[in-house]
Amino acid sequence: MEAKSAFKNFFNTLKILQLIKFNPEKGKIEFSSGRIAFLGEDTLTLFQNELEKIVGENYKVLAYTIGKKLGLNFWKCLEKNFNGKTSEEKIKLACKFVTYSGWGKHEVFLTKNQCTIRVYNSIISNSYKNKHFNSDKPTCHLHCGLLVKLVENAFGWEAEGKETKCASVESKYCEFIIFRKKLI
Ligand SMILES: [Zn+2]
Repeated sequence: MEAKSAFKNFFNTLKILQLIKFNPEKGKIEFSSGRIAFLGEDTLTLFQNELEKIVGENYKVLAYTIGKKLGLNFWKCLEKNFNGKTSEEKIKLACKFVTYSGWGKHEVFLTKNQCTIRVYNSIISNSYKNKHFNSDKPTCHLHCGLLVKLVENAFGWEAEGKETKCASVESKYCEFIIFRKKLI
């Protein structure tokens, strides 16, 4: 009950729930960033797993690119809540939102031109473990793209990211290092 209240309070503070329009007669749920629907973790993993079989290693780039688009949608949901906030406050708020949206518990560590984000119970790695997909390499490319876009928008610079630790591969958490792209 306490956890449920924390969730409701946080979303009410952000004025997120008010943006959702339920239209059961048409079977639609609409949000500020477009239509949304509930999808299970296994759908994400199965999609990624099958994609890898078809396009090989290129699936990483695809997942990362789609993740960035997803990150932009997350950002748009929050946009009105960023007024007057510093870059650090923005990325922490955005990561809290992603945490409360069920993507895993996010912790943010900042250094100059770099943002490290640790994620416990990340949705994709969790699914890989629970659904018995085996992986000997990091799996959370979609998640990485999502976080890169949040960092880009929070700091106003172009960024690149890589997953340096992944809970799919014997780590307690996934770790994403997101750094400012070097200007040529
Ligand atoms: Zn991972």
